[in-house]
Amino acid sequence: MRIITHTLGCRVNHYESQMIREKLQGLPGQGELHVVNTCAVTGLAARKGRKLIRKLRREHPRALIVAVGCQATDSPEELRNAGADLVVPNRDKARIREIILAHLKGGTVQTRSWPSLAGERIARDTEQIRANLKVQDGCSVGCTFCKTWQVRGPLRSKPPAVAREEAECLAAAGHPELVICGVNLAQYGRDLPGRPTLVDLLHEMLQVPGIRIRLSSLNPEGVTRELISLFAEEPRLCPYLHVPLQSGDDRILQRMGRPYTAAEYRERIGEFLEKVPKATFGADVMVGFPGEDEAAFRRTYKLLEELQPLRLHIFPFSPRPGTPAAAFPHQVPPAVKRERARTLEELGKALSRRVQERFLGQVLRPILEERVDGMWRGHAENYIIVALPYVGYPRGTILPARLTEVRESFSVGVMEDNGDL
Ligand code: SF4
Repeated sequence: MRIITHTLGCRVNHYESQMIREKLQGLPGQGELHVVNTCAVTGLAARKGRKLIRKLRREHPRALIVAVGCQATDSPEELRNAGADLVVPNRDKARIREIILAHLKGGTVQTRSWPSLAGERIARDTEQIRANLKVQDGCSVGCTFCKTWQVRGPLRSKPPAVAREEAECLAAAGHPELVICGVNLAQYGRDLPGRPTLVDLLHEMLQVPGIRIRLSSLNPEGVTRELISLFAEEPRLCPYLHVPLQSGDDRILQRMGRPYTAAEYRERIGEFLEKVPKATFGADVMVGFPGEDEAAFRRTYKLLEELQPLRLHIFPFSPRPGTPAAAFPHQVPPAVKRERARTLEELGKALSRRVQERFLGQVLRPILEERVDGMWRGHAENYIIVALPYVGYPRGTILPARLTEVRESFSVGVMEDNGDL
């Protein structure tokens, strides 16, 4: 059977699509199988999932279409109505081969309890040179706007030794950078015997030679003193953290159910930027959360202006059915949400440029990821995207490059001759 995967959403979903590709290798049968790994984080993501399935059904009338993932867990009927032959919820993702084989024989498979992550593995990442490595799933924070924790099951963590073994395989498969991801990495290890922390996991991963390690998104409560100290002393840990802020206003943070204040966020990011060489950070911000007035929005704006993120992801509040915030009073009009999002986008671009300018003349170490307009482009250790004139090195090489110019969303550099590779 010809297997095609389509992935919506986060790094965890991309990791799981790779796992699904590996599990479905050599699946017997004729024709095409389209696996759509769906997302439920916003109304837009859910709409994209339905639209994609309708399009696939139209364009591939005889194909087997299987919907998996967060939206498949949250609203399976919607995806069946859109044209999916089979809908597989998150708890059964790892058993997808068994489920499809049973379906092809006209049967079904009983759903079971949520599987441990110790059995989840990938051998390589066929989509990108910086490989995703999932080490955690589930979340118990319960933010009032969030669907994810409702569809991702109980807290589950991949034991450090298992994660290390997987990292060794990915390194051997040629991935020079691993991106550690989870639904809520700040809760890593809470379900494991001895409750190893994220710092313990990183110590284990740092035993793997020949790679650098990046953390994907990490909630503020995970940016601990221990973590900052480890990043300060270990150059193989990429000095970039993506830390969702959501709002710079404490009243709004409380209504969101976020377990930190704006002052705590400022203090942790401030310490990370001060103590870790070449450090930068990124943030997620939600605009238009119910009750967000102009003053609250200004506080968010001011905090971002002060901390200067390299990356800013802006999400207009999207009321998700089944979440408390969808029913909160003082919903913000769409036009106001759009205006606030536009204002933060402008701010984000200006701050990103300012951060990149701080590194002009310095040497960073980008990884050669893709060729754009005859130049190599890739992420440096602190996540600045660096464009380099074509140099005769293969994709995946990490090179020393001195920054010479800042453009809108990336910087230009020249390879540093005397730099060691
Ligand atoms: S921390 Fe909040 S937003 Fe993130 S997955 Fe958990 S409940 Fe959702």
